[in-house]
Amino acid sequence: MYHRSETRPVNVGNVTIGGSDSVVLQSMTMTKTADVKATVEQIHRLEEAGCQIVRVTVNNMEAAEAIKQIKREIHIPLVADIHFDYKLALKAIENGIDKVRINPGNIGKREKVQEVVKAAQERKIPIRIGVNAGSLEKHILDKYGYPTAQGMLESAEYHVGILEDLGFEDIIISMKASDVPLAIDAYTLAAERFRYPLHLGITEAGTLFSGSIKSAAGLGALLAKGIGSTMRVSLSADVVEEIKVGRELLKAFGLASNAVTLISCPTCGRIEIDLVSIANEIEDYVSNIKAPIKVAVLGCAVNGPGEAREADIGIAGSRNEGLLFKHGEIVRKIPEDILVSELKKEIDAMAKRYELT
Ligand code: SF4
Repeated sequence: MYHRSETRPVNVGNVTIGGSDSVVLQSMTMTKTADVKATVEQIHRLEEAGCQIVRVTVNNMEAAEAIKQIKREIHIPLVADIHFDYKLALKAIENGIDKVRINPGNIGKREKVQEVVKAAQERKIPIRIGVNAGSLEKHILDKYGYPTAQGMLESAEYHVGILEDLGFEDIIISMKASDVPLAIDAYTLAAERFRYPLHLGITEAGTLFSGSIKSAAGLGALLAKGIGSTMRVSLSADVVEEIKVGRELLKAFGLASNAVTLISCPTCGRIEIDLVSIANEIEDYVSNIKAPIKVAVLGCAVNGPGEAREADIGIAGSRNEGLLFKHGEIVRKIPEDILVSELKKEIDAMAKRYELT
């Protein structure tokens, strides 16, 4: 077992990655960064969904210039994703970016790397080294013939070495691969080798359905080992879905302290209510509630409340009505037509009590 709390804490704006048992959720916008209005709108949707850090591509000077305005209009730390061009990194830093994702080994001449590192040091901005199985350095591919976990580790060591030689240690590392076993092996090697926090991701995971499962397989295996201090689920879907999937994954490992967990039965022949649509409606309803409440939605009362004893609150179907229960004890009966609305009111009341404490 590795432990994420033993990593070096690295500050990204007002959010700390590493040094604790928490995993910071992040996403990346799909807009043209220079289109400030569209980018800010998307970031606001991400903020509302619970995204804690957001990355934008900085692929040209217009994007680097837009950072200043975007920063003014958002409430979470902003990261610039930069490939090769050190001038874009310098401009992003000048315009108030909170973190830069750039591989120092790809910047070119040492003086250029030094300039970026100096600017980052002055503003206390961390750098994420993004190793990607699909774009390993030629000397590593020549050595191994194809992307391997060991090759990815050597790539990370190469980039980290450049930063450490310049006295820079506010480093975050990612070891992304689209192949799940390769990503798991690469991150495991990195967790053994480095004390820097790791940014988890299965790259190009796929669509909402297949990508969520693939991400859960890879990221889940790593989270279970105590690896990873920040995470992005990459999906070919609306950005908000990345946060929803990421949060569900963190909930499964007890790593999302401020979110509602839904327990719902798979249904069987004993079912007494339209459970599938109720479960979906409640899942949607609780998605933005920031309180650590467990809500159960069960098809019948035979095994229902007892099966979901760990739930703080829940409903179980009964003929033409529902039973409201709290911690496994039935509290009252509710007519079927107001069952869902009453459950929502109870959840709201419970969430409010968490806000007050
Ligand atoms: Fe079946 Fe009732 Fe269990 Fe749901 S709670 S799976 S309906 S027995």
